[in-house]
Amino acid sequence: KNQLQSTIFRIDKLKSYQWNPAEYNVCGSFAEILNGKYDKLETRLHNFNLKMNGIVGYYEAAKKNIQNPTVEHTVLAISQNLGGISVFEKDLNSALSKSKLAATERTEIKEKAKIAINAIVAYANWLKDLKNTTPRSFRLGTELYKEKFELDIQSNYKADTIFKKAVDHKNELHVKMYALAYKLWPKYMKSVVKPQDSLLLIKTVIDKISLQHTTPNNFQSAIEKQIPELIAFVKEKDLLYIDPSKPLVVRKEPKYMAGVAGASISAPGPYDKNGNTYYNVGSLSGWPSEKSESYLREYNDYVLQILNIHEAIPGHYTQLVYSNQSPSLIKSILGNGAMIEGWAVYAELMMLENGYQNSDEMWLMYYKWNLRTTCNLILDYSVHVKNMTQEEAMKLLVVEAFQQQAEAEGKWNRVSLSQVQLCSYFTGYTEIYELREQLKKEQGATFNLKKFHEKFLSYGSAPVKYIKELMIKELKE
Ligand code: ZN
Ligand code: ZN
Repeated sequence: KNQLQSTIFRIDKLKSYQWNPAEYNVCGSFAEILNGKYDKLETRLHNFNLKMNGIVGYYEAAKKNIQNPTVEHTVLAISQNLGGISVFEKDLNSALSKSKLAATERTEIKEKAKIAINAIVAYANWLKDLKNTTPRSFRLGTELYKEKFELDIQSNYKADTIFKKAVDHKNELHVKMYALAYKLWPKYMKSVVKPQDSLLLIKTVIDKISLQHTTPNNFQSAIEKQIPELIAFVKEKDLLYIDPSKPLVVRKEPKYMAGVAGASISAPGPYDKNGNTYYNVGSLSGWPSEKSESYLREYNDYVLQILNIHEAIPGHYTQLVYSNQSPSLIKSILGNGAMIEGWAVYAELMMLENGYQNSDEMWLMYYKWNLRTTCNLILDYSVHVKNMTQEEAMKLLVVEAFQQQAEAEGKWNRVSLSQVQLCSYFTGYTEIYELREQLKKEQGATFNLKKFHEKFLSYGSAPVKYIKELMIKELKE
């Protein structure tokens, strides 16, 4: 029902098909045909051929739909469409050369690929030349934001309520961080006089701790080494069951995903339950030393462990194994992003609460990481509803959340192109944490953490508010 309501909302009210020209791009779906392993290459190329018949008409329809696009999405559409042309050149040619396709169809495909490229270039040029004298603002505004938040997040909280919670949480984190940084000051700064400004004091200590990090060459092996340690800890503390028959494969990020540095999980979908789960680790090889140094300081020895908890164990990887065991295909396919991200963020805190790598440094770095999640929501809401300027956003991220300039700029870019998604982490986390605390209080001595986790995850990737409703009902029965 929610999915259908979202579709109606998008057609009738959001209307991003008018203002977001980046919604029109054929390259990704054609790349999918070349990369997919679902059928033999010749069949896939034949389908590729047939699908190309629609490209010219597709971009004609796009041009008819577009009205007053935002400047930001127009720039994105031009670069993403032009960037995708390689699918019809390099990628297609290399697939053709590997195939046993008849010479006539090969020639036909090459001819149509030229037409496809011309249509993509023509679309990009049309956007460049568009007389867009009154572009729409990329900011969503209060009314649309409110509704999109309800449909995308499916929380018990309204957007403005969770925003207030995030602001309070940010202030609480600053207090805790100040206490820790104050205590750690002599260890890292010796007799240097403490600055008056509390945020500067925290930042100084964080910067010192961040110097403890791995090397570009050891980045992947450092991650690999931690996975068994995390599994052992979860077992030792009896936090939840981890299915040993679905191991996590750590691999170097494949080329078609490269560019966005970092780490991510590729989990098999509900139709491919026995497929491998990959932990993709971005390679730092070939990076200029200044860039890799800054990256490694960000993902220092402490934060790297929190990242592994979030992405792998007991975060995304563990949650997705449970989700695939849930019999509902609907829940797997229309998974709720706030529940999925909320679980991974909750897992970070839960591991530390149980004593994982317990130290003042670890907690301080954890709070910094949690501050990022919290400020994601504050930023998203403030920019789209409260007209926050870029300058104010930079102050929030760099001064109050201790982020590197480059990271903050990337986040500004993201918030000007997307809406609401940045709220999923904090909202899901808050609701899961509050549910646990509520049950703990109600059940007293009979509360069991492992049971809570396994029960919670057994509902699949459903919105937290529905899991809560079902769990409480079942417990009462
Ligand atoms: Zn260094
Ligand atoms: Zn995540």
